[in-house]
Amino acid sequence: MIISTKLIPRGFSAFCLWPFIFVRPEFRSDTALIEHELVHYREQAWITPVWVILYLVSRKFRLAAEVRAYTRQIEVGGVTREQAAHALMSYRLGISYGKAMQELA
Ligand SMILES: [Zn+2]
Repeated sequence: MIISTKLIPRGFSAFCLWPFIFVRPEFRSDTALIEHELVHYREQAWITPVWVILYLVSRKFRLAAEVRAYTRQIEVGGVTREQAAHALMSYRLGISYGKAMQELA
């Protein structure tokens, strides 16, 4: 997705942070520049499938990812630590409630 914005670091016309390409409005129709950013876009895109595969096959990776996400959810008051610990047990992580509480501490 290409986003026209003036919020581009000084000295740059565009940059890519998958799945977005940010480009200064005056460079929006610079197709060569967009092609340049599309190279970065394609290079970055493989990281997402790798993340998904790791998430699916590795309990350790999945636990770490969910602990980071639930920690944030707790921080913003969405759930309690106890609720998050219960939720963590439904990710096929093979962990006990006690271990889940410990991970979220
Ligand atoms: Zn570049």
